[in-house]
Amino acid sequence: MPEAGTYLLFMHLDREAEITVGHLGTFGFAAAYYCYVGSARGPGGLKARLARHLRHRKKPHWHVDYLLPQATVTEVWTVHSIERLECLCAHTLLGMPGAEVLVHGFGSSDCRCETHLVYFSTLPSLRGFCGRLRLLNPGVPFFTGTLHSSAAS
Ligand SMILES: [Zn+2]
Repeated sequence: MPEAGTYLLFMHLDREAEITVGHLGTFGFAAAYYCYVGSARGPGGLKARLARHLRHRKKPHWHVDYLLPQATVTEVWTVHSIERLECLCAHTLLGMPGAEVLVHGFGSSDCRCETHLVYFSTLPSLRGFCGRLRLLNPGVPFFTGTLHSSAAS
């Protein structure tokens, strides 16, 4: 049975880039860390979604697919839960030190969040994030982090 869940995809842009994000428009992305929040509840669950994100050649479907070819995925934080946690996670990330909104509406076409892509000048810690998340919702299970070193294609 595929497991549904929420994930935080951390990416690093080694140099600044102008990226066209589908119909959202073209934006200047600074060389920095970015965290994209998403959830997977379709066939294959979290595992299939992350495998797709990390695959290099594909037709863009989500906003993050336009950013991924230019970026290096550094870390992935995941939690298995059928609860809708992505908006809470996006909100939590935006309250962390060094967090900023760079592109309004990125990944958040279907909700009321400002964005599901958060800019970071330095990488936030998993422990700090989980602590802050639990202040807002004590019932949220802890996320697990996995390091990645996939080079940009
Ligand atoms: Zn949202």
